Amino acid sequence: MKKVLILEDEISIRSFVVINLRRAGYDAVEAGTGAEALERLKEDPNIGVAILDIMLPDIDGFEVCRNIRATNKTIGIIMLTARTQEMDKVTGLMTGADDYVTKPFSPAELTARIDALYRRVDGDTRPDSQVINQGPFVLNLRNRTLEKNEHRIKLTQVEFAIIKLFMQNPGRALSREDILTAVWGRDYDGELKIVDVNIRRLRIKIEDDTTKPTYITTVWGFGYKWGL
Ligand code: CA
Repeated sequence: MKKVLILEDEISIRSFVVINLRRAGYDAVEAGTGAEALERLKEDPNIGVAILDIMLPDIDGFEVCRNIRATNKTIGIIMLTARTQEMDKVTGLMTGADDYVTKPFSPAELTARIDALYRRVDGDTRPDSQVINQGPFVLNLRNRTLEKNEHRIKLTQVEFAIIKLFMQNPGRALSREDILTAVWGRDYDGELKIVDVNIRRLRIKIEDDTTKPTYITTVWGFGYKWGL
């Protein structure tokens, strides 16, 4: 059964999420503190998606996210953010989260996001021997690795999906909607801003100078283009 970790200190919200996860066919693993969440993840490598609340009694959700990402690039991470904390979304994504859901959220919304992440995690196992060489970059679709000048660049699943889309469409201007649909899926109903935040994070990893990006260039009022 597909496993999802839910980190939330408020028992009423946590129980609500657990009930709905089980109803949607997921196995729910619960944690009430950041430390407990990290412990559960260490014990169980089969957890494919983690849902992280931000305000916690010990370390905050961003710190938990950073800790998870330090050793695990493939797990899907969804942050639970408060409606009033707009910056939370951006901060969460910059610490390595894949997505966020704003409180209060509907069970359908949350499970749709988990399903979308799980589809991507599962996509991982598809055999694909293709290697794409472009300039200093080598993208290996089977190993899901990216190298720049023979140095490995560590990417999250979302970042990998974006770079793959770019490298399969060199020189083509892609709208933010195109990127959102290709990476997050047709059913995704989140905001376009998630594309920009992920591109910003990706630029930090791959550009020589992030103030003058040359690989991922902005197409004003439209989207982005991959060029060398
Ligand atoms: Ca909380």
